[in-house]
Amino acid sequence: GGMNKLSVEEKVTVKSKNLDVLAEYNKSKRKRSANFVVIGHVDAGKSTLMGRLLADQGAIDQRTLDRYRKEAEKIGKGSFALAWVLDQGSEERARGVTIDIATNKFETENTAFTIVDAPGHRDFVPNMIAGASQADFAVLVIDSSVGKFESGLKGQTKEHALLVRSMGVQKIVVAVNKMDTVQWDKDRFEEIEQQISAFLTTAGFQSKNISFVPCSGVLGDNISRRSADVHASWYSGRILIEELEDSEPYTHALDKPLRMTIGDVFRGGVQSPISISGRLDAGSLQVGDQILTMPSGESALIRSIEVDGEPNDWAVAGQNVVLNLANIDPIHLRSGDVVCRSSSPIPTITTFTAKVLAFEHLMPMLVDVHRGRLHVPARISKLVASLDKASGATLKKRPKIVSPGTVVRVVVEMDTAVPLEAPTRVVLRTGGSTVAAGLLE
Ligand code: GDP
Repeated sequence: GGMNKLSVEEKVTVKSKNLDVLAEYNKSKRKRSANFVVIGHVDAGKSTLMGRLLADQGAIDQRTLDRYRKEAEKIGKGSFALAWVLDQGSEERARGVTIDIATNKFETENTAFTIVDAPGHRDFVPNMIAGASQADFAVLVIDSSVGKFESGLKGQTKEHALLVRSMGVQKIVVAVNKMDTVQWDKDRFEEIEQQISAFLTTAGFQSKNISFVPCSGVLGDNISRRSADVHASWYSGRILIEELEDSEPYTHALDKPLRMTIGDVFRGGVQSPISISGRLDAGSLQVGDQILTMPSGESALIRSIEVDGEPNDWAVAGQNVVLNLANIDPIHLRSGDVVCRSSSPIPTITTFTAKVLAFEHLMPMLVDVHRGRLHVPARISKLVASLDKASGATLKKRPKIVSPGTVVRVVVEMDTAVPLEAPTRVVLRTGGSTVAAGLLE
C-alpha cells in the first residue's frame, strides 16, 4: 500500500568501500577485545583483585580511589577500598544504568578487556552464567592462606570451574592469591598448583590452557607489576596482566560466516533512526554491507559502524559494536535475534542436542532455553547419555534421571523456531533457577 511505496522511495543507499576487512584488521592498530569472567570461592579476593587491576590500568580515577581509601580506613577496613571499585557497578545497576550484566572495562597496550560479571554478589551463580556465556576465558581466584585453600576447594571453586568449562570456556588463568599471608612460600604455591591442575584437568581443561600466577591483590604484587618482595623472587613466570594479554587461546572466528547476536535495539539516534548493538561472534562486516536478520528474514543496510564507541568502516569478530541501519522496519529487530548474511544464513531450528552440566536433577521436563537475552519455552524430550566430564565418553545410555553435577547429552524441543547453531552456549532454567548449562552440538 501507500506506506510501502513511501519506504521504497526513501530507500537509503550507501556506497561500500569494498575493503578487504581482514587485511584492514591485520594492519590496524586497533586493540583486540577480550572478555573474561572471574570465579572462585567467596572471600578468595576476587573483588579486591579486580579492583586492583582496574586501578593499576587507570580505569578508575585517583580521586574516587582516594575517597574509597578514606572511607574504608574510617571504618577500619582499609583493604576493602579496592573491592569498592567494583561496587560502582552495583550502584549503577541499582539506578538502572547498566543492563543485566555489570561490565567493567580496562585497557592495556594491546587489549580492551571487559570483566563480564559481578564478583562477590550473593546471587552469584546466575550472574556468572550470564557472564560465562560471553567470556573468552576465566580467571579463577584461589585463597592460598592456610586452611582457606582447603575449604575453598570444598566450596564454590570446583562448581564454578565446572560451570565455565561446561559452557565451553577453554582457557583458565589461576590467580593463587593472598601469597603475602604465607610469606610467598614456594612449596605452598606448588602444592596448590598441583591440586588445582589435577582437578581442572578432570573437569576437562587441557593443561596447555591452564596457567598459575602467585599474587597478592591487596599489595598489587604480580598483578600489573612484579613483586619486589625478596621472598617472591623465586617466581620468574608471567605476572597476571601478562597472562591476560596472552592472545593465543581466544582467537575469534574471523573467517567464518557473519554472526552477531543483537544485544539492544535503539531507535531515533542521531546517526540513524535505527541502531543495534552487540558483540560480533564470527565473521566481519563493513559499511554498505547488506545484512540479514533472523528469525525475521528481513534485510537491512549498514549505514555506519561504531567499534568500542568510535566510528569505523568495518568490524570483526570479538569486537563490541553498534550498527546504524537503514532500509528496515524496527519491528523486525529484537534483542536475541541474529545478524548474518543471505549467502550463509543461520538456520532456525526447533530441536537441538546439547551437552550440558546438570545443576538440578534432570529428566524429561519443561524448561526455558536461554541464549544471551533470548529465551523460549521448551522441554527436555530425551536424556541421550550421561558422559565422562573430561573425555566425553558415554557412561550410561538413556538414563531416566541424572543427578546434579552430571554431564549429560540432552535433546531439547522448543515451542518456536529459533536461530541457533553449534557451538552456541545455552542455559536451561525453570522458575527462575538454572537447571543446566552447556553447549549445542
Ligand atoms: P571476594 O568475596 O572473593 O570478592 O573477596 P574480597 O575481595 O571481598 O576479599 C575478601 C577479604 O580478603 C577482604 O578482607 C580482603 O581485604 C582480603 N584480601 C583480598 N586479597 C588479599 C590479599 O592478596 N592478601 C591479603 N592478606 N588479604 C586479601
